[in-house]
Amino acid sequence: MTEHKKLYDQVFDLIEKHDTWMQNTINLIASENVSSPAVRSAIVCDFRDRYAEGWPGERVYAGCKFIDEVELITIDLAKKLFNAPFADVRPISGVVANLAMYTAAMDTNERMLALSIAHGGHISHARKNLGGTAGAIRGHKVRNWVFNDEEFNIDVDASIDLIKKLQNKGDEIKFLLFGGSVFPFPHPVKEFRDIADEYGMTIGYDSAHVSGLITAGRFQDPLREGADMMTASTHKTMPGPQHGIILAQEEFAEPIKRASFPGLLSNHHLHNVAGLAVVLAELMEFGVEYMDQILKNAKALAQSLHERGWQVIAEHKGFTESHVILVDVTETPMKDGRTVEEELENANIVINRNLLPWDKKRGRDYKTPGGIRLGTSELTRLGMKESEMDAVAELMTRLVMKGEKTEKIAADASEFRKDYQKVHYAFDTDTDAYAHLRFM
Ligand SMILES: *Cc1c(COP(=O)(O)O)cnc(C)c1O
Repeated sequence: MTEHKKLYDQVFDLIEKHDTWMQNTINLIASENVSSPAVRSAIVCDFRDRYAEGWPGERVYAGCKFIDEVELITIDLAKKLFNAPFADVRPISGVVANLAMYTAAMDTNERMLALSIAHGGHISHARKNLGGTAGAIRGHKVRNWVFNDEEFNIDVDASIDLIKKLQNKGDEIKFLLFGGSVFPFPHPVKEFRDIADEYGMTIGYDSAHVSGLITAGRFQDPLREGADMMTASTHKTMPGPQHGIILAQEEFAEPIKRASFPGLLSNHHLHNVAGLAVVLAELMEFGVEYMDQILKNAKALAQSLHERGWQVIAEHKGFTESHVILVDVTETPMKDGRTVEEELENANIVINRNLLPWDKKRGRDYKTPGGIRLGTSELTRLGMKESEMDAVAELMTRLVMKGEKTEKIAADASEFRKDYQKVHYAFDTDTDAYAHLRFM
């Protein structure tokens, strides 16, 4: 066997190992999900090898007649689900959608307000010295929302004061960005519409994590509350293929279209546009039922952990109104989020470590933060309900709080997972959730 054939075989071998591991693993990563067999069938179609630059019907490539019809269906479903006047389904990810949104909203060098990372903001919202997309790639100056740690939300009055102060200094803010990666409570969008009008600011909303909840009317409705534009990832609470979308009021349609193409995209991962059409149709049919269970499961998981002595953030607010919960692990025997993340992974429970709002003051950074972030989208997709959340909390507690052996918890986690091997809330629920489609 040649060296190259060995590597070729090794890749397939590793893919298989990963898939088997996923079948045996409790996945609580808040930014992930598992796509339906129908979505997976769509994304291996020939579209993956094609180009369709431009807008459907106005392409600058030939060979697009069927691709155009699919993209128009995707746009139509996205507009319906988000109740949006305009949708661009070409951005290949949430970050690319954010870049297009910034481009449509502001010139480079202009100033925006966004959540800091410690308060749940995403690196694509961050300033230049952090290497953030907004600062380092688009050249925006980024200021941060004033945040109320206790309420785990934006402080409206203090942020309005900040906006006015900057305006008076001549450092005016052009763009207000809501949304984040730790997003348990709806942001106060409508509270800022008046001042946005007064100072000529555009309002954007990054719904990467909560887009699925929004399509079901279960979180907040940014475009009705005053947002001019919103972006989404399609693979977090939306159980899609990895892709992005922009939704907007009609007046932003042209600048967004130009930002996507010719600005940011040449090919736009047409296979994933097809997959997106399929998942949007599934959300139309099953979305409300699925999102309601995600929410119930998040509350149940938080409550079960709380009862077992874990410090779940925002107890006085019912822990969360989305799929995500944040837990301070500094009082556990493992002391920090990194150790908890590593030990749980060895026990077949996959979670993220996460900064807490007060970590910096205590000398912690993202390498060994004080928190962990948990999301219920994927486990819910597999058919789990509140009693299963209690079982997951118990497994975590046995490992992290009681110091039971990793091997024992790993075996029990895999055993527990055996009964949850199909995707629910989809048209086809017979195919195994993690089956790998192979042609040879
Ligand atoms: C995950 C995330 C993104 C980026 O999403 P990709 O689709 O991976 O590019 C953007 N914004 C927020 C708030 C996120 O959480």
